[in-house]
Amino acid sequence: MPGKYYIKNGTVVSVDPTIGVVSDCDVLISNHTITNVGPNLASKATPEHTMIDATNAIISPGFIDTHRHTWQTQLRTVTSDHVLTGYFLHIRNIYGSCYDVNDAYLGNYCGALESIDNGITFLLDHSHIMNSPAHADAAIKALRDAKIRGVFCYGLYANPAWPGSIMDADRETNTPEWRFDDAKRVRETQFKKKQDLTDLLRFGFAPAEIESKGIDDAAREVAFGRSLDSAVITGHVAMDQFDRGLHLVRHFEERNLLGPDLVFSHCASLHDDELEAVARRGVALSSTPDTELQMGMGHPIAFKAKNKGCKASLGCDVICNNPADMFQQMRLLLQAQRHLEHHAPGQSGPSLKISRKCEEILEMATLGGATAVGLKDVVGSITPGKRADLIITRCDSTRLSPFQDPVAALVLYANASDIDTVFIDGEVVKQGGRLVGVDWPKVREELRQSTRDIFERSKKAPFEEISREVEKFTKAFSGVKL
Ligand SMILES: [Zn+2]
Repeated sequence: MPGKYYIKNGTVVSVDPTIGVVSDCDVLISNHTITNVGPNLASKATPEHTMIDATNAIISPGFIDTHRHTWQTQLRTVTSDHVLTGYFLHIRNIYGSCYDVNDAYLGNYCGALESIDNGITFLLDHSHIMNSPAHADAAIKALRDAKIRGVFCYGLYANPAWPGSIMDADRETNTPEWRFDDAKRVRETQFKKKQDLTDLLRFGFAPAEIESKGIDDAAREVAFGRSLDSAVITGHVAMDQFDRGLHLVRHFEERNLLGPDLVFSHCASLHDDELEAVARRGVALSSTPDTELQMGMGHPIAFKAKNKGCKASLGCDVICNNPADMFQQMRLLLQAQRHLEHHAPGQSGPSLKISRKCEEILEMATLGGATAVGLKDVVGSITPGKRADLIITRCDSTRLSPFQDPVAALVLYANASDIDTVFIDGEVVKQGGRLVGVDWPKVREELRQSTRDIFERSKKAPFEEISREVEKFTKAFSGVKL
């Protein structure tokens, strides 16, 4: 339960520009909220405050993952050697159609636990595992059971029905738009009528591959999402080698449809006029370095977008490809960006300077993410008055002792195993390096069984037929060169 905590004598990497980095610093938490940050707060702590000694530890905001398909936990490593075409084929057209309700629950539950273990305290779950209404309910329950903060974005995408899949072929054929009604049901029955920014889980919406049809369909689906008062509406946009040249952002700007409720993922091939429109309208972007660099979705646009005044943030995307690890995303993007900028025209050895600092990428992974999902005044930094979503990273391991720069230590050296404690909404969800209230050996066995079941069902997939369909789909996606 959320209580009162006195975190003592740590190095606070606040990501709040007015507080900065403070050594020998205390943090007080009460009633879900950070109440005080500063040195020597002992006099303000009461006997009700539980003391946590943070000597030789870094206290920093929890990471904010703004693009994740959380259900895919069972599919770990399946596409680690694939480009996006292989992902479409295996994940979206075969295994996705094999998930029953329990699989959806376990995928989301264990996916959220993995995030928490790795210091991620907020997830934007772009959830396209709505194989039935019960799948939606299970995916939401899983996020709530894991106690992660987030926005559950109900996805319209239909995993294909094939003989042997668990999809209800009749429902998909006879009422192909059933997910619209179901999204409305979920919005009305699972979430408060008027959502507050401090709600742990909020309702969001995700059109079915927003660029896969046309602008009119995309506009209709976004309008529907807005009719449900969605906290966030999210979609995959402008994916470089898989950019079909639709220029959704340009068309949306012409129709006055861009707004701060939109979080567009990837976006590496947005043109300058589109980035300017994104900045002007307060649209947020989510870069996912692992999947973008690997799968042909382009160089992550985050830094370029930030230069143009856009809200830039990071996401882990898919566990079939890479872990839910923001340390990894920060490192990969920071170093790839430094490489890119070192080779820009006019750069040469003698005059070379470091182009991007560790603090910039840490900001994107925390406060930048919070800003992207409309929560900049609620989470994303160690700031009095904000909700207590924070992590305590012990610096006792061989890779973290000693160091001079705590920001660099966090960005380039720390691992999830160094994270001792995670707070979400003032509640301790990881302590002493272990998830709190989770019987992981038991849950892990259930997850393994679920994985076996999914892979067993997948053997019935008509692989050749599905491959031909996916080839057509990806050709349509990548047929128009920019
Ligand atoms: Zn995605």
